Amino acid sequence: MISNGYVGVSARLKRKLAHDKQKAEFRGFQPMNDRDDFSGKVRRAVAARAGWHCSFAGCGKLTTGPSEEGPDKSTNIGEAAHICAASGGGRRYDESMTPDERGGIDNAMWLCSDHAKLIDRDEVTYTAQQLHAMKREHEAACARALRTGKSAGLAAGLLAVGPDVVCTGELTQIDAMGWTLRLGHFLIGDLHGIIAYLDGFGQQDSENRYVLSNELGDGRVLSAAPTLTKQGDGYSLYCPVAPVAPRVDAQDIGSGFALQPETNDLYLDKKGSMARVSGVDYLPQRLRETLSMQRGESPFSPTFGMRFFEYFEAFRGSPWFDLLFKLDVVRQAAIPYRDGITQQTHTPLHCVTRVRNVEILADAPTKNRLPVRLDFDVRGIGRWTHDTNSE
Ligand SMILES: [Zn+2]
Repeated sequence: MISNGYVGVSARLKRKLAHDKQKAEFRGFQPMNDRDDFSGKVRRAVAARAGWHCSFAGCGKLTTGPSEEGPDKSTNIGEAAHICAASGGGRRYDESMTPDERGGIDNAMWLCSDHAKLIDRDEVTYTAQQLHAMKREHEAACARALRTGKSAGLAAGLLAVGPDVVCTGELTQIDAMGWTLRLGHFLIGDLHGIIAYLDGFGQQDSENRYVLSNELGDGRVLSAAPTLTKQGDGYSLYCPVAPVAPRVDAQDIGSGFALQPETNDLYLDKKGSMARVSGVDYLPQRLRETLSMQRGESPFSPTFGMRFFEYFEAFRGSPWFDLLFKLDVVRQAAIPYRDGITQQTHTPLHCVTRVRNVEILADAPTKNRLPVRLDFDVRGIGRWTHDTNSE
């Protein structure tokens, strides 16, 4: 049993004290009768619709589970938070709402205790409109998770439009000429970022003109500036796309000096010359070289490379990190760059036709290496899976 400071009191009293303390904190010691609180029914309904996971974008923390207090006890660290405050003076209080509306499910959002506190301290960053959008997006992800049998985080589609905008959302239409996206919540950038990107499209480097979908595991070069349309309570983006970037068979990806798996160093073959690998045998090494190259590191191709450390700094520990990493691998597979040495233009992983999944197998890199499990469609091979730490 973990000590929590209440010595010698019964479990029941402890629970009551903790509950009252939490209630008092959450309510800021305001008298109860001025507040339009949620009923137990509303709380349970909003929690269930959120799958008992925090609805805050990028959190998704599970808020309920077993308690140590007994075999039939459970713990809840979630709260039905008010989007517009329950009483005057609270954040985002809207005096035009009726008490029923304030205490109704439309005004409730299921959050972990950290995020309930966060939104209650800042109504500039978290507007009612944004919170409604997060709630909608989270409920949509839960509905997708139910349908697909995947966890809510993995079922959420991520989309990238150029290098500075990543949002949740889905592809609503695809044909040879264009992709239509329904935009959800922004993880990187915002709506203004999209508008700036569209306005400045003509000045964008060719390597920054792309759209990526991690649901599809594929991406396209944009052939012209996308068009943004307001649709209902959201936005839709039509992206004119270039034909799929050419790929080669795995047998034809070229060759390189072989690296010894243990030392990661060059070595001599039996004839005494530098050992080389080519084709399919070269693929794991080619992947490792591509995925471990950080953007900006290559003196020959400044825009070449992964954005791993950027994402790692901002999103480590969140369920979005794996999805962002996958999205960046999709970019390596689908979006061509110009090789500064060979002067050829091709995608860095130019035999990978689809990125099915990328799973990160450790919490943090060891010796600057992060073990990952890759699940790709490879031209000339078919489905191909590989663990980068097994080399
Ligand atoms: Zn949370």
